Amino acid sequence: MVYQSAKRMKVVIAGGGVIGSAIAFYLTAAGADAVLVERGELAGEASGAAAGLLVPPDRAAAPGPFRDICLASLALYRPVIERVQRESGIDVQCLGAGILIVAQTESRVALLQAHARWQTEHGVPTRWLKRAELSELEPALSPQVHGAAFSEGELNVDPGQVTRAFAFAAKARGADLRTGTMLTGFLGRGSRVTGVSTNLGDIPDADCVVLAAGPWTEALARRLGAKVPTPPRRGQMIAYRADAVRHAIWGEDGYLVPKAGGLLYAGATVEDVGFRKRTTPRALAGLRRMAAVLVPGLRRAQVASEWAGLRPGSPDDLPTIGRLPEKDNVYLATGHFRNGILLAPITGKLISQLIVEGRTDMPLEPFSPARFAA
Ligand SMILES: Cc1cc2nc3c(=O)[nH]c(=O)nc-3n(C[C@H](O)[C@H](O)[C@H](O)COP(=O)(O)OP(=O)(O)OC[C@H]3O[C@@H](n4cnc5c(N)ncnc54)[C@H](O)[C@@H]3O)c2cc1C
Repeated sequence: MVYQSAKRMKVVIAGGGVIGSAIAFYLTAAGADAVLVERGELAGEASGAAAGLLVPPDRAAAPGPFRDICLASLALYRPVIERVQRESGIDVQCLGAGILIVAQTESRVALLQAHARWQTEHGVPTRWLKRAELSELEPALSPQVHGAAFSEGELNVDPGQVTRAFAFAAKARGADLRTGTMLTGFLGRGSRVTGVSTNLGDIPDADCVVLAAGPWTEALARRLGAKVPTPPRRGQMIAYRADAVRHAIWGEDGYLVPKAGGLLYAGATVEDVGFRKRTTPRALAGLRRMAAVLVPGLRRAQVASEWAGLRPGSPDDLPTIGRLPEKDNVYLATGHFRNGILLAPITGKLISQLIVEGRTDMPLEPFSPARFAA
């Protein structure tokens, strides 16, 4: 459906994570009225638990829609972050620390050298560093490391601050942010919804509704008769009080990410344990081992905090973005798994385009909720 007058359009968004907040930002920038309902606080779930790396994962190396959407979001990041920081007054602590993907075994050297060439050909300048150059750059790194693919320009952000910056930039343009407000049902009959009910009362007269409720989206879609799997994928992480390294380091079993305030994150597990959002001694011990293998000095470093978050998954590990086939005016944006912080700008832009203009810059078929309908 194409709306002739975006100004009068009212969109209710469920979920105040990075995805719902980015959607609120792009919709208000396009002239729509956005009401964002979040049952807890902004970035209270996965979006506040992430490492904040903006690096397309390995599987984005294969040509296809996943690579396209990762690169499209990366291209949007710097300008949109500058804009939301300015409009919200919130600093997202964007660090251009660069990333070292390290070879801990001889067999990974050729693979990572090829990766460095591929990245460079695709616009992300990456060079291979031999062991000697690497120890000069990061003296604390284990001497067992054989070399690394180094991309100097890669960014990392504070994911909770990015979420709040999107949400408050939207608020500055008139969005209605309602935290502590849980969507409990839908108003209307037939193929259209006309609003939502919440624990604090109804929100009527909506032109459309966007479900961006992370792994809880599946249960909300089920109320509308739709089957959209969004399985939770737990991730655990540790923050050390340490300034041992200056670059993000991606090893064979995990990563280390330097953050503002003298913290160093070590992450992350990927576990299928339902909605049990808690840390476990075994996984934390595994993270500490991984960190100490990469940087032996971390064995003595003080742990500042440990936490777990539930990433929204999907059966094919692709995000789910598009209109729900069962309804004319309900849209979904979830299933971003390990890449929701990276993919937030493009998701916000595409959902906003779909609702306001009835078209999108890139095809959404590969990500459509309809792929689960059968
Ligand atoms: C340990 C870890 C490390 C990660 N590292 C990275 C990384 O480096 N880079 C990257 O790109 N991604 C990373 N991710 C993934 C990223 O965090 C997620 O993909 C992203 O945060 C998902 O955002 P979201 O808004 O879809 O979901 P969420 O953050 O879960 O937000 C959904 C919101 O909906 C709310 N909600 C649920 N039900 C209702 C309801 N009925 N009514 C109202 N509100 C509701 C919830 O309270 C929640 O706040 C990481 C994740 C984890 C756990």
